[in-house]
Amino acid sequence: MYEETAAFIRNLYPGKDPVPLHEPFFGGNEKAYVNDCIDSTFVSSVGQYVDRFERMIGETTGAKFAVATVNGTAALHAALRVGGVEANDEVLTQSLTFVATANAIAYCNTLPVFIDSDRQRLGLSAEKLADFLQTQTVMKQDGFCYNRRSGRRIRACVPMHVFGHPVQIDRICDLCAERNIIVVEDAAEALGSLYKGKACGTFGKLGIFSFNGNKTITTGGGGMIVTDDPKLARRAKHLTTTAKQSHSWEYEHDAIGFNYRLPNLNAALGCAQMEQLDRILREKRLLADTYRNFFEDRPETFVTEPDDSSANYWLNTLLLPNAQAKARFLQALNRKGILCRPAWKPMHLQSIYSRCEHDGAANAVWLYERIVNLPSSAGARCNPSS
Ligand SMILES: *Cc1c(COP(=O)(O)O)cnc(C)c1O
Repeated sequence: MYEETAAFIRNLYPGKDPVPLHEPFFGGNEKAYVNDCIDSTFVSSVGQYVDRFERMIGETTGAKFAVATVNGTAALHAALRVGGVEANDEVLTQSLTFVATANAIAYCNTLPVFIDSDRQRLGLSAEKLADFLQTQTVMKQDGFCYNRRSGRRIRACVPMHVFGHPVQIDRICDLCAERNIIVVEDAAEALGSLYKGKACGTFGKLGIFSFNGNKTITTGGGGMIVTDDPKLARRAKHLTTTAKQSHSWEYEHDAIGFNYRLPNLNAALGCAQMEQLDRILREKRLLADTYRNFFEDRPETFVTEPDDSSANYWLNTLLLPNAQAKARFLQALNRKGILCRPAWKPMHLQSIYSRCEHDGAANAVWLYERIVNLPSSAGARCNPSS
């Protein structure tokens, strides 16, 4: 079964066995910058590559400020704290996400509340968010939004752009603004994705990216907080660098901060990767076109961007007809050395988060039963005319 599909994918990545789901693409100054960084001896917490990498992310996304962090999870944790999330608050997010989204919320000693997904866009459903806010919450005298059932303050909402497909972020931001809920965009997977021409990650009060080894570009490990608010940017830098007050030699700290800064060595890799972002995005779109054509008259549905969005196609995604078909597809392709993967088990079904409130998340389960991710590394040998 799936002989043709396996052969087709194998052909895209000649010489790869197995064909990985997503591997880094190093085609530029990676070695030169990393060597330069080593020669300078500034490999750790001080150095020019960090500033340069932050500037590059700011320029590409249009965010006014960017603060580099040691990984995307740390970026999200710090962004939530900087955004004003406090212990015992609640934070809304989607059930169908990578566990790091929920974990970062839990690190703040807050409870995630899981909202359903949008079947077309894969991420947080604006519709379901509106339903939840309308029926389950109330505004109080203090100007904050409260969960009627739990009595807790809902301080933030974390929409996640699944596999680089933008959510309806303008509507989500409007719904949250009406209720004084801050939006922290988990754009870990969405570097280079646009919604209505604007970069994912730059709609919320704060946004974050990840540069883990399997993401669109990589620093080995790394993350970034972006914001247009200079005060939040300053606080983010402060909190992620042990909250040390600036002084030439004294060690005085005005908060329990974090050691979340990105080493210069990783930033050097990031600068070289950013120089190739356009090329990587171009190649990934070409690959998406190639997959789309191939699956056009097959039982699997290739997930494409809606008209208002430009996805980065970080991971190309199929919807299988049902859970049995998904299992068969995964088994057949993986057996043939094509490393396809399912979506994450939804958070409300994970034992660690099973006691958290959720809205049923029926679409999240529907998607989980059908999603398969295809090998998606840049550098595939595509034939756009085929
Ligand atoms: C990768 C990822 C993260 C975490 O990033 P790390 O750099 O691996 O810590 C967070 N959220 C989502 C949705 C991710 O895909």
